[in-house]
Formats: sequence, C-alpha cells, structure tokens
Amino acid sequence: MNCLFCKIIAKQIPAKTVYEDETVFAFEDINPQAPVHILIIPKKHIPTTLEIGNDDHALIGHMLQVANSIAREKKVAERGFRLVMNCNRESGQSVFHIHLHLLAGRAMHWPPG
Ligand code: AMP
Ligand code: ZN
Repeated sequence: MNCLFCKIIAKQIPAKTVYEDETVFAFEDINPQAPVHILIIPKKHIPTTLEIGNDDHALIGHMLQVANSIAREKKVAERGFRLVMNCNRESGQSVFHIHLHLLAGRAMHWPPG
C-alpha cells in the first residue's frame, strides 16, 4: 500500500520513534509546529476519521491514553497540551492514515485557524 505512515510503521521510512506497541505507533513530526509535536497513529490503516468503525473504539481510546502517557513523560501534562485529528482536505489533512497530533510546549491559540 502506498501510504507514508504504513511505510513508517513497517520501518521502510525512518522516523524518530517515541512509543510503539502491538496496535499503536508514535513518532516525532518531521515539521514540528510546537516544541513538542508527536504523531500517534494506529498500526491499522484507517484513511480518515470517517472510516473509524465499530471495531475501532478500543483502538481510538488507546491512542488517547498513549497521548496522555507521552504528555506525562514529556512533562507537559500539567501545563497543557493540544490533541488534533484533521479530517479531509479543508481541515488540512495531508496524510490519509489517521493520526493524532500531540502539540505542547507553548501557548496554543484559539480559534486554531
Ligand atoms: P496532517 O496535515 O494533519 O495530515 O498531518 C500530517 C503530518 O505529518 C504533518 O504535520 C507533517 O509534518 C507530518 N509528516 C509528514 N511526513 C512525515 C514524515 N516522514 N515523518 C514524520 N512526520 C511527517
Ligand atoms: Zn496507512
């Protein structure tokens, strides 16, 4: 499959791994938008949030818990962090394998723009 993030999971393309288990992979964003910018992805290829199915509830919940663990490890949990999942073009989604952005280490703006 010609998917950048599936290739990263398969270690065909290098990435700075932050966390890995049987179902989830996390790595540093190549173009960080904050001092901490980590992508948490499922190993299962799901193109957009619109394709999240009934069988994926535990997986999506697990991704959120992995994000919490990483935020604690990076010492940004208490000061705060932002979790973002873009869906389709107008949101800015550029890689069509769902990913949770964990952004932290600076004040975030709202609305996000
Ligand atoms: P999105 O725009 O929400 O689809 O986010 C895609 C993210 O993937 C962007 O923040 C990119 O900087 C990041 N990205 C693209 N290619 C790579 C790569 N090879 N390694 C790590 N992050 C990447
Ligand atoms: Zn994929």
